[in-house]
Amino acid sequence: MAQYAIQTPPVVAVPIAGTDALFPVRRVYCIGRNYAAHAIEMGHDPDRDPPFFFQKNPNNLDTSGQFPYPPHTSDVHHEVEVAVMLKSGGENIPLESALDHVYGYALSLDMTRRDLQGEMKKMGRPWEIGKAFERSAPVGPVHPVSDIGHLENGSITLKVNGELRQEGDLNQMIWKVPEMISYLSEYFELAPGDVILSGTPSGVGPVVKGDVMEIAADGLGSMTVTVT
Ligand code: MN
Repeated sequence: MAQYAIQTPPVVAVPIAGTDALFPVRRVYCIGRNYAAHAIEMGHDPDRDPPFFFQKNPNNLDTSGQFPYPPHTSDVHHEVEVAVMLKSGGENIPLESALDHVYGYALSLDMTRRDLQGEMKKMGRPWEIGKAFERSAPVGPVHPVSDIGHLENGSITLKVNGELRQEGDLNQMIWKVPEMISYLSEYFELAPGDVILSGTPSGVGPVVKGDVMEIAADGLGSMTVTVT
């Protein structure tokens, strides 16, 4: 049998709440402008601009509770999001059965080098430099559907140093979880281990070193992430 010629990369995995088991990560999809109030604060018309997807790298997920301030930026923004973790996938998944593919949900952050993202937008270039950098997606433990059911409504919040900055309700998502799964599966083959970050409510803004972000959502508890 052929051997790998170099050291094999580790499997990225997220702890599952209440067990010793891990959720292995294959891909990370992120949806943009999925809450109308956030689309408006970013200067877009929520009715005319449909949501769209970009990707982060699997090993951008980070479960340490620490977010090292990244290089080449002076404007890193927080975006609190619910991560949808898939246990199965496929192509052209019908809306009616889309939720059957969800293993569970987790709290997450889509940390963004907003200044670099803005430059890329202006030049019509891809967003990776603003979005897909090291440890750009802090994530909490996965809460299985078998424990908490599906998340269709309930509050989602982010505080910085105790001050409320982002507040929304999961029922404000323009594209609901089944729609995201079904839509993505028309363009990509979804598979076990795929993660979808479901977009952020309004109130995004910068953090600085030393800030403590506390994120929470109904059904998922809360977690803190310190900017180091
Ligand atoms: Mn986002």
